[in-house]
Amino acid sequence: MFSFLKRNDIVLYYYGVIDFVLFAMLFRRFVTTSTPLQYTELSIEVILVMYVVDLLSGILHIFLDTYTGNNIYIIPHAIGFQKHHEDPHEFCTRAIHRVFVEPALPTMVCGLLFLIDGSIFIYSANYLLCQLLFMVCMLSVQLTHFQAHCINHSTLNPLATRVLLFFQNIRVILNTKDHRKHHTTFDTNFCIFNGWANPLVNWYYRWSRTTVLNKNMEDKAVL
Ligand SMILES: [Zn+2]
Ligand SMILES: [Zn+2]
Repeated sequence: MFSFLKRNDIVLYYYGVIDFVLFAMLFRRFVTTSTPLQYTELSIEVILVMYVVDLLSGILHIFLDTYTGNNIYIIPHAIGFQKHHEDPHEFCTRAIHRVFVEPALPTMVCGLLFLIDGSIFIYSANYLLCQLLFMVCMLSVQLTHFQAHCINHSTLNPLATRVLLFFQNIRVILNTKDHRKHHTTFDTNFCIFNGWANPLVNWYYRWSRTTVLNKNMEDKAVL
């Protein structure tokens, strides 16, 4: 099992390198586009991108927290998430580059989709810039989660702590107090990028659990 996990770690770094290559290709497409940037729309689009990334982080977190299957590619990620519930301090001791590459696989999938999509259709500079921002935010998902834990366990230097707390308080990155609720009950606040999508994801989680419970009760009633 452990040798398998180590091999999976190395694969994450390969995905990380592919992410940088995809980012460079998408960046080249952005700088060579002839359409001008529309700055008024861009501010709304940036907020939307950050919201969608947070939403995806919450859905992915629910999936990995509750995963009980046997897929060898998913198991290490599910173990990583479930282990950080049992031992949150261990998460803070991980190397920062290791934390950085943890979301490299979903980022790679998004980057590939953007590359194919942009080869078929011609998009505006705004859209191409949003694709780049999306990739940066996706790759930063575990880092914002990581800093929320590090602040809680006081593992960062005072200056970094002050700067991060400022961004936490204006809700640009994941807030430690908000995330602590997830580690108390494990059934709320799954979003780990900035927490903006928590109300929607919390509602979805409660709805999906109720549906599963109702389905189980119906099955038992039939039997
Ligand atoms: Zn969790
Ligand atoms: Zn956590």
